[in-house]
Amino acid sequence: MAKSAGRGGVNGAHHGGVHDGRARHGGAHKKVRRSARGKAAAIPRVTLIPGDGVGPEVIGAALKVLAATGIKIDWDHQLAGATALKRFGTPVPDQLIDSLKATGIALKGPLETRVGEGYRSINVYLRKLFELYANVRPVRTQAGVHTPFPHVNLIVIRENTEDLYAGIEHQVAPGVVESVKIITARASKRIARFAFEYARKNHRHLVTAIHKANIMKLSDGLFLKCAQRVARDYPDIKYQEQIVDAACMRLVTNPHAFDVLLLENLYGDIVSDLCAGLVGGLGFVPGANYGKHGAIFETVHGTAPDIAGKGIANPVAAIKTGALLLDYLDHEREGDRIRTAVGAVLRAGRVLTPDIGGKAGTEEMAAAVIRALK
Ligand code: ATP
Repeated sequence: MAKSAGRGGVNGAHHGGVHDGRARHGGAHKKVRRSARGKAAAIPRVTLIPGDGVGPEVIGAALKVLAATGIKIDWDHQLAGATALKRFGTPVPDQLIDSLKATGIALKGPLETRVGEGYRSINVYLRKLFELYANVRPVRTQAGVHTPFPHVNLIVIRENTEDLYAGIEHQVAPGVVESVKIITARASKRIARFAFEYARKNHRHLVTAIHKANIMKLSDGLFLKCAQRVARDYPDIKYQEQIVDAACMRLVTNPHAFDVLLLENLYGDIVSDLCAGLVGGLGFVPGANYGKHGAIFETVHGTAPDIAGKGIANPVAAIKTGALLLDYLDHEREGDRIRTAVGAVLRAGRVLTPDIGGKAGTEEMAAAVIRALK
């Protein structure tokens, strides 16, 4: 992926425009952004992948909201997943890869992975191909959405490139298989540094590394050692560790005991869905994958085949994912406008999709968000 202007790394990690929509960055980052603005009279080009299932519906809604902010984006429309397979005979066409290499940024709907013969998961393939090593999922309670706990405000940071997702599996003998869990010091330190930098830039006070090092002494042990080593460089941020099973129990009894969660790939996948449940479900949580040279913005939820084509998918996760894209493009004020408008629609409770007890469709909810934009 092309290195995006003005989005340079810190200690080898990418952090530009990476924020949680709540707090501003420090002075060093502002300098980078000013220089980005200096150059950024040009309209940014972004790869757009509507995706499969509910993807085109929720991404379509997000696009309308993004357009209503007045920010101009030059979208390069590309197909991937089942839609691409039908059209081009492959779920990952060459033109998609070329577009991602050229733009370095994408807004992507969910992709059906079952179709990807030769690909375990197209999402995982793209994250690995472009070394988008940090998956960030801000999980926040929305006023107006009924949840067991008020004021949940967590950031899930998941390592994206290794662990059991390395895809190394084989049959040792009939009835005996192995799946190999790869953990390296390089990737573990890189994601830990990303988490601490993120915490510092967004005025977060605590990073919790989540692990199972009591059982996987070597792999999770190495992950922890790396996190501990990096934590020493951030004395201003508290660091703690929790075994993954205990952490899950604690998350559903006292989520306020956490702030930034630092996880390997598989625990990150599972725990982020658990966290989504804390704030009303998968329809609410946006997501972004950051690397040194680019970013792909995508929702946590999948293709939702059970409701695809019905026009009733909750567009909030996709709209908030669009807001994260605006943050990355140095339009944080517009990102905040979108988040505030979504909050207003949910608080008013009049135009809601069925998953949150309403009767409205995806498009009606997006229209309500547009009306609420101030
Ligand atoms: P995939 O295989 O693509 O991950 P899935 O069905 O296993 O698909 P999700 O797509 O994440 O996983 O869906 C899980 C459940 O959450 C489904 O019942 C789905 O309808 C619901 N869901 C997911 N996204 C939304 C949304 N945006 N709005 C409403 N419900 C949703």
